[in-house]
This record gives sequence, structure tokens and C-alpha cells, in this order.
Amino acid sequence: NADLAMYRSKEIGRDALQFFTAEMASSAHEKLRYQEELRRAIAREEFVLHYQPQMDLKTGHIFAVEALIRWNHPERGLLMPGDFISFAEDTGLIGQIGDWTLRAACRQNKAWRDAGLPPVVVSVNVSARQFQEPEWVERVASALRKSGLEARYLELELTESVIMADVQQAVALMHRLEALGVHLAIDDFGTGYSSLSALKRFPVDRLKIDRSFVQDLPDDPDDAAIARAIISLAHTLQLKVIAEGVETREQLEFLRGAGCDEIQGYYLSKPVRAEGIETLLRIPNI
Ligand code: C2E
Ligand code: MG
Ligand code: MG
Ligand code: MG
Repeated sequence: NADLAMYRSKEIGRDALQFFTAEMASSAHEKLRYQEELRRAIAREEFVLHYQPQMDLKTGHIFAVEALIRWNHPERGLLMPGDFISFAEDTGLIGQIGDWTLRAACRQNKAWRDAGLPPVVVSVNVSARQFQEPEWVERVASALRKSGLEARYLELELTESVIMADVQQAVALMHRLEALGVHLAIDDFGTGYSSLSALKRFPVDRLKIDRSFVQDLPDDPDDAAIARAIISLAHTLQLKVIAEGVETREQLEFLRGAGCDEIQGYYLSKPVRAEGIETLLRIPNI
């Protein structure tokens, strides 16, 4: 499908994007159709959240789960965020999708609480477009209120680029979110740029080391040095640090040795449906 390929290519890089620009004019109507499909998906709530556990390396406890959206497309099957999130951002539909995600994640976590499962924080990804929305903090407050979930069981993941677009405004917004009682994390840390002086001002709780620095651990000396540097930076700023994309025991052992607090990745579990998390949480200590 040309449309999907085009939006995927944006992530692959510039050359790929240029390759596809030739087709763009002829596929303008395809783009419109995809937009219509996405609108319909929002109206019919064709989305589903999968959840990936995060483990505390000291205790072995699952203390949080990251909510990751999928689109259960009636014809194309289960689509991943890479297939539609950047499209949703470009067309402005991300606001509605983001609201759905936030509400669904809060509702699910409240249901787990009500079922008497050990408490976990649910972590939700936030796009730049959402974060720039003036009413957004109200949306977060409303999702908490409507679900009945306590704010401390919600975490919002922001990326460096989202924050650095306007540091002054971001810091103000983050303080309002902090006042609500939600946790804040910086996602994909190390792939963007945030100055140390800016980082010091952010009321965040955690840095998430991007998967790209984790995948070649422990053998790649540069990545090993980068991972150690991020861990030490986080601890200097009195933040927790979590590594994403941990796939092997060797990576886990390296990170543990380097003082990393928490991990997330296929080694522990792939993102799974809510029922899978429920099963996992019922196991006393994995
Ligand atoms: P992210 O927030 O950095 O999420 C982590 C991604 O890495 C997820 O991909 C997850 O499935 C994948 N992953 C986790 N552990 C491993 C591992 O050990 N190995 C490998 N190879 N991959 C691993 P996913 O679900 O495809 O999501 C991709 C991105 O889409 C996310 O990256 C996030 O930026 C975005 N996204 C996902 N859900 C939402 C959402 O509800 N709203 C917004 N705005 N963005 C979302
Ligand atoms: Mg994330
Ligand atoms: Mg991430
Ligand atoms: Mg990432």
C-alpha cells in the first residue's frame, strides 16, 4: 500500500522520502481515503492498547506498564504505531487518538486496581501536537477524574523534541502536570538534544534510555559508555533511569552492573493485551 509505505518511509529517512514524493500527487486521494479511515477508526474506537511491563532491577517487581497503541483495522489487520501515528500527527487527528489512549489507559489501570492486583503505574506516550494543545492539562485531569484513577498511577512520556521545541512553555506545562500528581518521563533519551541546564529544570521522574543504545550492549564500547553516562547523569539529577529494548540476559546484567534502576524489553515481555498483564501481575515475583 503506497500510503502506508510513504508514511513508513518518513521514518526510514530522507532518501526514501524523496523516492516517494514522485508518487505523492497521484496518491493524494489515497491520502484522503486513509484520513477518512482514521476518522472512522476514531468514531468506531478501532484502537486497542497493548501493555509492556517494566521491572525494578533491585526488587524484581513489575512496577509499571507502558501503554502502546495498535489499530485493529477491519481489512488490514493489526496496525502498529509506525503505520499511523505520524500520519495522525500530520493530519491533526492525533489529538483525538491521544485522548482515547489516555482515557483507555486510565480506565484499564483503574480496573486492575479494582480487581485487587498489585498497583502499577501506567505510562502513556504523548505527541508534540498534544503537548502543545492549550487545554491539554485539563484533558489529563478529566481522564483521571472520569476513570477514578489516582494521579500517581499515571505517567506521561515526553520526548526531548517535544520539550525542547519551547523549553519555557514546556517547563510551565510540566509543573502543571506535576501539580496534578502524575509522573513524567523523558522517552527515547539520548536521541534528541536537551541541554543539561534545561534538563535540570524539568520536573521529571525518569529518563528512558533509548533502545538504540541498548541493542548492541554489552559489546559495543561506545554504547556501553553512553549507557553509563546516561545512568550517571540521571542519578546526578536524582532521577530514576530505565533502559528500553532489553532483549538479552547479557544486556540486563550489563545494565544492572552499571547501576540502571529499571528495564523494559522483550527479554521480560513483549507488549501484550491487558489480560496478559493481569496474569503477569498475579505472579508474586518474577
Ligand atoms: P516508544 O515509546 O519508544 O515505545 C517502545 C517501542 O519499542 C514499542 O514499539 C515497543 O513494542 C518496542 N519495544 C519494546 N521492547 C523492545 C525490545 O526489546 N526490542 C525491540 N526491537 N523493540 C522493543 P511500538 O509499540 O511499535 O511503538 C512505537 C512508538 O510509537 C513508540 O515508541 C511511541 O513513540 C509511539 N507510540 C506508541 N503508542 C503511542 C500512543 O498511544 N500515542 C503516541 N503519541 N505515540 C505512541
Ligand atoms: Mg514510550
Ligand atoms: Mg521509548
Ligand atoms: Mg524508543
